[in-house]
Amino acid sequence: MQLDRYVTTLGKHLKARYGERVRKLALHAGFSCPNRDGSLGRGGCSFCSVRSFSHADPRVAIGVQLSQRKAEMQRAARYLAYFQAYTSTYAEIEDLQRLYEEATAHADIIGLCVGTRPDCVPDAVLEMLAGYRLRGYEVWLELGLQSADDATLVRVNRGHGFAAYADAVARARLHRIPVCVHLIVGLPGESAAASLVTHQRVLELGVQGIKLHPLMIVKGSQLAVEHARQGVATLSLAEYAATAAELIRRTPTEVVFHRVSATARAPTLIAPHWCYTAWPANNAICRDLAQNGAQGSRV
Ligand code: SF4
Repeated sequence: MQLDRYVTTLGKHLKARYGERVRKLALHAGFSCPNRDGSLGRGGCSFCSVRSFSHADPRVAIGVQLSQRKAEMQRAARYLAYFQAYTSTYAEIEDLQRLYEEATAHADIIGLCVGTRPDCVPDAVLEMLAGYRLRGYEVWLELGLQSADDATLVRVNRGHGFAAYADAVARARLHRIPVCVHLIVGLPGESAAASLVTHQRVLELGVQGIKLHPLMIVKGSQLAVEHARQGVATLSLAEYAATAAELIRRTPTEVVFHRVSATARAPTLIAPHWCYTAWPANNAICRDLAQNGAQGSRV
């Protein structure tokens, strides 16, 4: 089923804006994470695994990684460079500038998506990203929040609270940089109602994009260890689809969904098994939206 019929997907948004298909190329630029190296915390978020990020090799030059990603997918005329792995603003400003310039030096790269933590976006980074926007690039600041509940954020060892997110969003707005928030549905201790509250708080602050994920247990994470010891509950496909569809219905149509679910590859994924591919979740969410109303129908 076609998600675009019911949801303002990133693909649909970009096609309307640029008149043709634009694809996102995920990169690994060798950044680290302050929640792992001790600067802000140690051990990382409990759901995070270094290996589950991307299969890109950070030793490979950005230009080569871009060519590799293009070769792996259906080609498009234009692309966005997505600095995905770890905390992609966690470096000296000169190093960030060099990496972003390396990506945008390619004529078919029309924008940057930068994934990071809310407490890792100093004004200097925002000013630099605003500069790319002024030069005509599509720019998205992707902020991992996962939950708006500070108790949950402590439970999963995020190392920041909701206030850090609110601060980053306010400063990004001053620089007119669109924010895409990453949210996880089904975090330990959270019900579907908690996801609705998080979503509501995010909308109240103002957001231009949302990326939804179900909680996944992946090898190498703290949750994987816990899961082996005592089991960690994950959502069934039906539970996830019902919550995701409800969140989508409660989202205004001008907010762009960068993703409505997530996948992990076979050796990495422990649970839930339906996350091996994107289709089960996409189809289940589409069916729900077709039956109960599309994006924006419950705003
Ligand atoms: S999810 Fe992001 S912030 Fe958390 S440990 Fe992983 S890279 Fe760091």
